[in-house]
Amino acid sequence: MANKKHRKKALKSRQVKQKKKLAIENYCIDDHVLCAYCLTPLHFTKFTLDHFLPKAFFNCSPGHGERRLAHHNNNLVISCELCNEIKSDRQPEEFILTSRKKGILPDQPLQIYSIDKTLLLSIE
Ligand SMILES: [Zn+2]
Repeated sequence: MANKKHRKKALKSRQVKQKKKLAIENYCIDDHVLCAYCLTPLHFTKFTLDHFLPKAFFNCSPGHGERRLAHHNNNLVISCELCNEIKSDRQPEEFILTSRKKGILPDQPLQIYSIDKTLLLSIE
C-alpha cells in the first residue's frame, strides 16, 4: 500500500516536471518566465503552476473524469508563489479584480495564457 502511494507520488512529480518543461519551452525568455497575474519575471527554476480554474471548482462538478481536467495543460498558468498563494481556490476574475483594488496587482490590460498557449482570460 505504501509502495503504491509512493509510486503515485513519483508519477505526480514527474507530471509536474513535464508540465513545467512545457511552460519553459513556450514562455522562457533569457532564463525567465513571467507570472501570469502580476507579470513579475521569475527565474525558470523558481515558478509555480497555478490551477487557473481552482481544483475545488472541478471537485464539485459531477463525474469522475471532471477532476482530472483541473490538471490539464489548458488549466495551468505560470505563477509566482505569492499570487498562487493569495489566489488560493478563488476564481481567477475575482482574485484579479479584488487584488487590483488592494493594489496587489497592477491595474493594466492583462491577457492570461495557459502553459499550452490557450488564451484563458483577457481583461482591459
Ligand atoms: Zn505573481
